Amino acid sequence: MSEEQFKNVIAHCKEYGFVFQSSEIYDGLSAVYDYGHNGTELKKNIREYWWKSMVQMHQNIVGIDAAIFMHPKTWKASGHIDGFNDPMIDNKDSKKRYRADVLLEEYQEKIRIKMDKEVEKAAIRFGAGFNENMFRQTNPNVLRNAEKSAYIDKVLKESMESGDLARIKVLIEELEIVCPVSGSRNWTEVRQFNLMYSTQMSALDGESELYLRPETAQGIFVNFLNVQKSGRMKIPFGIAQTGKAFRNEIVARQFIMRMKEFEQMEMQFFVRPGTEMEWFRYWKDARLKWHLSLGTDPKNYRYHDHVKLAHYANAAVDIEYDFPFGFKEVEGIHSRTDFDLKQHEEFSGKKLRYFDPEVNESYIPYVVETSIGLDRMFLVQMCAALHEETLEGGETRSVLKLHPAIAPVKAAILPLVKKDGLAEKAEKIFDDLKLDHPVYFEEKDAIGKRYRRQDAIGTPICITVDYDSMENEDVTIRYRDSMRQERIKIAALPDLMNKEVSMKDLLMG
Ligand code: ATP
Repeated sequence: MSEEQFKNVIAHCKEYGFVFQSSEIYDGLSAVYDYGHNGTELKKNIREYWWKSMVQMHQNIVGIDAAIFMHPKTWKASGHIDGFNDPMIDNKDSKKRYRADVLLEEYQEKIRIKMDKEVEKAAIRFGAGFNENMFRQTNPNVLRNAEKSAYIDKVLKESMESGDLARIKVLIEELEIVCPVSGSRNWTEVRQFNLMYSTQMSALDGESELYLRPETAQGIFVNFLNVQKSGRMKIPFGIAQTGKAFRNEIVARQFIMRMKEFEQMEMQFFVRPGTEMEWFRYWKDARLKWHLSLGTDPKNYRYHDHVKLAHYANAAVDIEYDFPFGFKEVEGIHSRTDFDLKQHEEFSGKKLRYFDPEVNESYIPYVVETSIGLDRMFLVQMCAALHEETLEGGETRSVLKLHPAIAPVKAAILPLVKKDGLAEKAEKIFDDLKLDHPVYFEEKDAIGKRYRRQDAIGTPICITVDYDSMENEDVTIRYRDSMRQERIKIAALPDLMNKEVSMKDLLMG
């Protein structure tokens, strides 16, 4: 997908009531967005699919809904007060601020594209006998670029771990990275910025400083024993939560990709120490399958193993999607060891242990986390689903090919004309179907125009009521993707809807 197509996605989101800039009448608030009706429905459906897959489908995963505000000590214990920083660098000419690690990652992405092009060219040159692996291992250009990328990984990892920010600046200079706006290499030093927002409790509570949670995970950790005891959970078990998180992202770009206020869907899976790698692999595999189940082209997804591990992790992988601006993280799977529970034990002075009857031992469980951004997943679905099609006769249509189970509207009921009782008949169908599905009724404009509007918001089925319907108790069904039409009895509509738009098939896998 090109930059141009991405602009179309953003425009489409606004025009069809998916996403609006926050406080637009006041010229907007940077990196903050509001969801319109269709966006709210789509977001709700993605959230529901995640929740059902994680909670409803597993005997050993339960949910919670923790508050956004937490005791300030939480963030001391979790390491966020001292360590939740991004390394930032400014370009003195454009006055633009960048995340230093992102500048380097974008440089690496360019190298990767160069290598892929080299391979593509060679594949054409050598034809059927081409051995890609061999080529990648022997071609001097590809090798040089692979080494360069590995070198960047190494230096970045070492300097992030040791806190050597000056070395990161040297690396940016060495690679001659320029500011995309000014084109100059006139950089400031690299500095750390804390990403948490703070606010005050009232004077009555002692004026203590509170933070807006930067991740939902900590609400799960501090409730570990409450949930384990009240639910009589046995290890291995998981706790899932969806909710808002807040980060003071300095560099706001790429629409809803990086927001200051966003929604996470996280699950912490508590396991016996020593088994965490097995579960890490399990969730790595299970989570990619979940993404692919929605019908997204597998070639647009990839794993990205972390080289620079967070302070709490002993293994981490991202699930990345090929956005118009390159492969970017949509979900992270992290093996967080016993770091968080141990820290909370220390800072709260309360034991956070589990007695495991199978090994007759009490221990702090290890944790494997799956953490996905709901808004990013929404963006993946919009980018993957929006198609501009040219039809026979040269006419074009915008069609949003969302999986029917997550489409905002499941069916539109359209009387061919308003008069002669057709509208009343259609309304009766609407009233029957609305009890089970979000459906839409529309009687204005020519039928072709109404179909186009439903295509644009991803409605999988249009149900048209015409004069024959009055006699035969049947309707025309028109399918969004194929535009195929068929005639079916009104009495058969509930079954058809259940078959076509239900989440059941997705959940059965
Ligand atoms: P990035 O490196 O892109 O900033 P991260 O590694 O900080 O992401 P995590 O802390 O692992 O992200 O958060 C888990 C998920 O939450 C991410 O995979 C992403 O989908 C989502 N997420 C994180 N930050 C944002 C944000 N500012 N806006 C929207 N979604 C976000």
